Amino acid sequence: MWTNWSGGRECRPTATVRPLDDSGVSAVVRRAAERGQPVRPVGAGHSFSALAVTDGVHVDLSAFSGITGSGGRPGRPTVRVRAGTTLAQLHTELADRDLALEAPLELAAPTVGGALAVGMHGSGSSRGSLSAAVVGLRLVDGRGRLRDVAAADLDAARTSLGALGVLLEAELAVVPAGRVRVTREPRPVDEVLDAAFWASHPVVEAAVFPSARTALTRWADPLPEHTLEGDDEDAEGEKEERERTVGVTVAGATGRTALGGAVVVERALPRLVPRFNRAVSRLARTVTATGPMHRVLSSPPAVRFEQTEWALPRTTFAEGARELLTALADDGLEVGLPVRLRVGAPESGWLHPAHDRATGWVAVRVPRGTDHAPVLERAWRVLRAHGGRPHWASRSDWTVEDTVAAYPRLPDFRRVRDDYDPDRVFATPALDAVLGD
Ligand SMILES: Cc1cc2nc3c(=O)[nH]c(=O)nc-3n(C[C@H](O)[C@H](O)[C@H](O)COP(=O)(O)OP(=O)(O)OC[C@H]3O[C@@H](n4cnc5c(N)ncnc54)[C@H](O)[C@@H]3O)c2cc1C
Repeated sequence: MWTNWSGGRECRPTATVRPLDDSGVSAVVRRAAERGQPVRPVGAGHSFSALAVTDGVHVDLSAFSGITGSGGRPGRPTVRVRAGTTLAQLHTELADRDLALEAPLELAAPTVGGALAVGMHGSGSSRGSLSAAVVGLRLVDGRGRLRDVAAADLDAARTSLGALGVLLEAELAVVPAGRVRVTREPRPVDEVLDAAFWASHPVVEAAVFPSARTALTRWADPLPEHTLEGDDEDAEGEKEERERTVGVTVAGATGRTALGGAVVVERALPRLVPRFNRAVSRLARTVTATGPMHRVLSSPPAVRFEQTEWALPRTTFAEGARELLTALADDGLEVGLPVRLRVGAPESGWLHPAHDRATGWVAVRVPRGTDHAPVLERAWRVLRAHGGRPHWASRSDWTVEDTVAAYPRLPDFRRVRDDYDPDRVFATPALDAVLGD
């Protein structure tokens, strides 16, 4: 039995295969196609949606790991990375080469293939997702053919939901490694809902409890190259000291906010949750840390949860977020995890939720053990009404009719899909529900 990270999705594939090389993947796809079995590549299972669920063949890409080469041109380096590489490993191998991702991705476990399939993003108004960094892709298509994706098809394949084939390797644009100073600071909610806040730092995000007037924010600014190594330890020490003093942690601002405590309160005394959340927000203090971005932004989740996240046009972001916060507070749907607000640049990927528009991301998370349905359904209603498109990895009630209406390049994507997977070897009920067949 396969289960995703949240525990909310499971399936019993007819087989789970772990090919060791490209020809092994081709053979798996050909054999499954001959037998009429669907094929589903699977990464770290960190999607909340049912995208990785199958009753056919699961293809585990964990043997496809590591950076295999570098290229690009002066000032615009690239690396080739295998699709089963976890983000943690990618960060480490890039750092060994004095390189880094431009996208501020903080989670360690997802694989490159999974993160690309769903358009995994961080937060910064001019920062793209991992998909935006793609300059080349190699995959096995639905007929088992090994293909280098043509430039004309790249915007279909950079965020493909796994509908075009089993991704084997990606060539990604990367940047020279640098160090950043991360600051976590409580700020008034009204300030956070103002456009100026999102333009104030290259990497910036916020987390807001619906009933609180203080938001927990976090941003990162680049440091000049000559900053001393010793800063790192000093700031880390200072951060840990402050966190001990305050008694709650704002680590990750959004990721681990006093979660242990909040979730215990939520389970034992749900009606105290808003009061507890307000206290957490009030008690938060400013902390800083310096180091490579992937290290200082890293915030492993403290509890398991279900999540819905929507990409709103930046023009409706503040209004949509405010309406959502009010709705959750007024309807008694506040939980022990804050609503997470992030931003991103317009994406070229035809199926990326931030396609062709500057985006504000709004994520609602419900700790495992709490009935998530009423909270998520409330969020869907509000965020849909503000022109939102759901993150493909998150839970939503999105339908194929919605995709038709919200994604103007869907016809182009379908044309590419007909070429790469004419027999729909990679189709699943979850894909059919949002892409059609
Ligand atoms: C705690 C937590 C925090 C998160 N934070 C963020 C965040 O900050 N930003 C964000 O955008 N998302 C976030 N997510 C969602 C998560 O990033 C995505 O679900 C993740 O990128 C998927 O990667 P995965 O390896 O787990 O893929 P899986 O969930 O295993 O698969 C996802 C999809 O990718 C396809 N796929 C996997 N490998 C391949 C391949 N080799 N070729 C083709 N298709 C493939 C699968 O078929 C499936 O359709 C978070 C999730 C969790 C649980």
